[in-house]
This record gives sequence, structure tokens and C-alpha cells, in this order.
Amino acid sequence: MVVSNRVPVPSDSGSPAAGGLAVALNAALQQRGGFWFGWSGNVSEEETPLQVHDFGRVSYAVTDLSQRDIDEYYAGFANRALWPVCHYRLDLTEISANDTAGYFRVNEFFARRLATLLKPDDVIWIHDYHFIPLAAYLRQMGFENRMGFFLHIPWAPYDVSSALPAYQTVLSGLTRYDVVGFQTRRDVENFTRCLEQEKMARDLGDGRWEADGRVFKVDAFPIGIETDLFRQEAREAKSNSLVRRMRASMEDKHLIIGVDRLDYSKGIRQRIEAFACMLERFPNMRNKVTFLQITPKSRSEVPEYLKMQHEVAEQAGWTNGKFGDVDWTPVRYINKAVSRTSLAGLYRSARVGMVTPLRDGMNLVAKEYVASQRGTDPGVLVLSRFAGAAEELDSALLVNPYDTEATANAIVRALEMSLEERKERWKAMMARLRSNTVDHWCANFMAVLTQEQSCALPKG
Ligand code: UDP
Repeated sequence: MVVSNRVPVPSDSGSPAAGGLAVALNAALQQRGGFWFGWSGNVSEEETPLQVHDFGRVSYAVTDLSQRDIDEYYAGFANRALWPVCHYRLDLTEISANDTAGYFRVNEFFARRLATLLKPDDVIWIHDYHFIPLAAYLRQMGFENRMGFFLHIPWAPYDVSSALPAYQTVLSGLTRYDVVGFQTRRDVENFTRCLEQEKMARDLGDGRWEADGRVFKVDAFPIGIETDLFRQEAREAKSNSLVRRMRASMEDKHLIIGVDRLDYSKGIRQRIEAFACMLERFPNMRNKVTFLQITPKSRSEVPEYLKMQHEVAEQAGWTNGKFGDVDWTPVRYINKAVSRTSLAGLYRSARVGMVTPLRDGMNLVAKEYVASQRGTDPGVLVLSRFAGAAEELDSALLVNPYDTEATANAIVRALEMSLEERKERWKAMMARLRSNTVDHWCANFMAVLTQEQSCALPKG
């Protein structure tokens, strides 16, 4: 039983949903047979029955939510409290008693709906910050199934995360799982410190913790991508019309690429600022490079996102006004989503990949950029130290995205890097990407979730 907020229900033709995570989880479900459960994405003011769609061995079970539920649980607590706190942004955190209550109410609602589907031997894998208390409600209802939780976003240190409303309830909710997985060692450390500070669980060593008579495992499971498949798509994207148009428009200039949802955690404004700083300090680079920033809008219902939309657009416009010429636009800023195949081709055409979030759980774009490169002439990844991906991709040019001048220097260093050094760094990163694909991630988590000893402590 896989649970996530949005469920990639296939179209009627049964084709699997695109995207590495959906593909990997679908594959795991196909192997064992099972359900994928979550929100339908639809609003309904009356309680509608659970909608079940069967595709082969996998069934997709989705439920509607009311507008109030969506406002409080999703747009409210999940995206205006949990998201900013987990991304270390207390300045953007909105605390509302209604939203907090709504988050727990909707989780309880999901638990009741899920309960109607559950069989005693079902293994349940719950994804992400929308559903932290789900296991606690299921346990209260008497379910003793194996339950795993994976957090796709970071977990902040105690002093930051403890500012979350209902912090102790959220934290104790996580102790109701059998396995709690994070993206990085840093997140695991932050989380286990929180457990210690609150005296909420006892350290049994080897990643095992005990709380209220139950033992649970805490570990890092860094998510991967479909490395070889992505590589193949990049190779084949030569014939893609968007990629061809882009290449033709580049003339002999180097391409620098950034790809991110429009989100304040991604550091997009700071990145364009660093690019502008580079043009200011290295006039010889003017007219020689083009920075393509692809940024589909997201969560426009959350006010903080609208504000940053204006800030990024202003920074891009300012940079073009200051440095552009009649025949050169330094920043190409695009607010629409680009298909996976086109992205793969664009990554491959880019001499530099700029992935500089202020904080990110993993950042798949960093991995996709590396996987797309030509081994004989690879581009350079400039990567924020604060992206989860930096733990594995330590052969990238690592930067502090708050340091504009240092990031500007890193761009120049990337543009001027020798072929030999580029190849060496790329090879090291590819080795990591090949040894930890999204299939490894899925299999590792499932192995721990299904093979650990029963977590109930022996009596006495
Ligand atoms: N992506 C896409 N089209 C776009 C922009 C992004 O398909 O126009 C994909 C991108 O290839 C990556 C994902 O969206 O697989 C973004 O994942 P990431 O971990 O980088 O960031 P998130 O959006 O999950 O915070």
C-alpha cells in the first residue's frame, strides 16, 4: 500500500505516469500487487465514495477533499508551516490554529478511508510531509501492519523544527512508524537530536529507537533517478524540436541552465544575482554565455509564492536591462514546464548546470543534469552545499548560494574548467548515480520495511 498526497492514476490506456518516483513505485507495486492511495486532486463539498481504478495488479484508490480541507491541510499547514519550517525558513512560516487542526482532521479522515482497504498483512509505505500523523491514527484504530514513512524534504535542526505548531504531536507521530526514512545523514541527525531533546525515544544503537514500547528504525535513503534511461533520453533528444530550436539560437555561446519549480527554497533570485555579478566582474564573459532558467509556476495559491514570482522576474529583467544588447539576451527566463525528454536534451547542451537551492531535500535536477552529459565532453555541475544531492555529488563545484561573489567565481571556474578535470569530476558523479538509482532506493527501503524483525518489544 503506497500512500501519497497526489496519486498518478494512469490514463485509460493504462500507460504508466511519467517521472522517476512514480515509475519506481509503480514497478514495486506491479511486482507485489497493491494499492496506491491518496487525494484525487478534486474538490467536492459532499463526502463522495472512495474512487478505485484498477490497472493490472495495481489499484489506485483516491478520495476527494472539500475546499476547506484543501485550504487548511494542504495550502495551509503542509505548505505554509511544514514546508517552510523543514526548509529552515521560519521567516515565511504562517501559524494558524485552524490550519493545524485541519491538518490533523484531514489525516484522520485519510486514515479512516485507508482503513477500509487494509488487510492484516499489507505493508504500508507513506510518503512525505502531508501525512506525518497517518500511522498514529491507524495505530489508534488497532492496525499493527508494517508502516514505513519517507520524508522527501529536509528535516531541520531542533531549534528550527521545534517552532512548528503542534511540534511534539508531529514528532511523536513519526515514532509510530516501523521505519522512518530521510534523504540524507544530516536529516537523520537533525531528527534524532529532536527525539533526544524531547526525550521522546531511547537510542538502541544501529539506527534503532524505542518509544512507548515500540522499536523503530531511522535511516537515510537518498533517492536516485533512472540513470541509464535518462541518459538514453538525453542521447536521443537531438531530434527533439525544442532542443533543436534552442541549439540553433545559441550560435557559438555557452549555455548555462537552471531548472526549478518556482519555489523560494530553490534560490532562483540569488542565482540570477550571482550570474549578474559574474557579468559585472568578468566583462570578457559578456556576449559569450546565455543563462536559461526554466521555472514552471507552483503553489500560486500560497501568497509567499506570488511574492517571489515578482522578485525573480524583476531580477531577470534587471539583469537583461543592464547587460543585454540588441543581439544578446543574457537571461532567458521561462515560466512554463518542459517535458522530460526536452529537459534531458537541454541539460546535455548546457556547459554548466546551476543547481543552487538555499535548502533542498535531494534535488533530482542535479542528478539528471549529470546523467545527461556526454562522457567525452561533459558539462560542469555547480551545486549548492545545502542540497541533499551534495552528500553524494561531492565532485560537483560546491557553493554557498548565499555568497553571491563566490557563486559568480564558481560559474567562471566551471566555464573555464579543463576537459580533463571535467571528465574526472563527471566520472566520479556518474559512478554514484549508477550505484544508487531510484530502483535501488525503492528496493532498499522496502527491504528494511519488510525484513526488520517485528518491532514490538518483548513483554517485560
Ligand atoms: N521537471 C520537469 N519539467 C520542468 C521542470 C522540472 O519535468 O519544466 C522535473 C525535473 O526533471 C525533476 C523534477 O521535475 O525530475 C523536479 O524535482 P526536484 O527534486 O529537482 O525538485 P522538486 O520540484 O521535487 O522540489
